[in-house]
Amino acid sequence: MFKSFGSRVLALTAVGIVVILFSRDLFPAAEEGLPDRPVSIIFFLPDGMGIGQHSMAYYLTDDYPFARFGQVALMTTHPHRRDRVTESASGAGSLATGEKIRRRVISMSPEGKPLETVMEVARAAGMATGVVTTANVSDASPAAFSVQHPSRYEQTAIARKMIRSGLNVMLGGGRKVFLSKRDGGENDSDYLGQLERGDAVQVLASLQDPLQPSRQILGLFDMGEMEDVARRNPTLLEMTQFALDRLEDDPDGFFLFIEEELTDSHSHNNLDAATLEAVQAVNRVTRYLLDYQAAHPEVLLVVAPDHETGGWFLEEKRDNPGRPKWATGSHTGNMVPVFAIGPGSGLFKGIIDNTDVGKIMLKYLRQKK
Ligand SMILES: [Zn+2]
Repeated sequence: MFKSFGSRVLALTAVGIVVILFSRDLFPAAEEGLPDRPVSIIFFLPDGMGIGQHSMAYYLTDDYPFARFGQVALMTTHPHRRDRVTESASGAGSLATGEKIRRRVISMSPEGKPLETVMEVARAAGMATGVVTTANVSDASPAAFSVQHPSRYEQTAIARKMIRSGLNVMLGGGRKVFLSKRDGGENDSDYLGQLERGDAVQVLASLQDPLQPSRQILGLFDMGEMEDVARRNPTLLEMTQFALDRLEDDPDGFFLFIEEELTDSHSHNNLDAATLEAVQAVNRVTRYLLDYQAAHPEVLLVVAPDHETGGWFLEEKRDNPGRPKWATGSHTGNMVPVFAIGPGSGLFKGIIDNTDVGKIMLKYLRQKK
């Protein structure tokens, strides 16, 4: 009796030690002794990457990196009306402005009022700013983080606004948006040539070009959306590394927006292998950003999609591996996971709305002015 009581105490003590060790692991020391707000913010948007894509990444790939985040929240993504399902302009706009936005509108209120974006507030605070995407640089999400426009589809006008906004780095696809119709593009004039002849913007042919100091950098590496993960050059990771190199020296800090587009495009087409490849590209960039954040603990890293696409899931197969299936070729209204690490990440918890993400980031950025 006594002996068994003793061994029970021993067992409970052992469990207690394991619990303490385990919970210390769950709350990384990176949060201790650091300011409660960030100097710089990296926002990574894997377009359309909801619980389905995350679950598949966990079940079907090695080394799912998202378990390393200290904070996780579930986020609602609806546009200005709760019973509607969102798309990228409205979804990204709410993340960037803290306000609800109509579908297809770039960071303007339902009444048509321009809404201040995180990039504008960051720049007003003297921070360096950049966008990196595998979509067109003027596509809905990078646009919504940067400027305002009544329609996401008027990309030539949006591209001009983004250049004029003073973004220090713009890397991605969408060369056709800057080229004249005569040259096979969509622009009324040769906007790319005009930028190349001016002295405000350096247009890169490759990430290896020698850099001209104090110019804005524009790299357009595909006519439209960038090629598949295996073929594209540069990769999202290479563009991310380049942008961080350029932005990180600003003494006032920086705001970098990064987007993987193919998690959305391939999910719309219900392509298992291609979507998984895009998810693995997201994993690689996330791993790099987690290491970067650990080496730069003044940086807040947030990873959140604008919405879920496809409703991807693993279907039960008795005694056989689960079979991937899709619920739809469209966006869904499902809540999506938001991950955060670094100073200020404590507010990313529980059930939050996409506008809360914008409000949290704007709060930190406005405190810097
Ligand atoms: Zn989207």
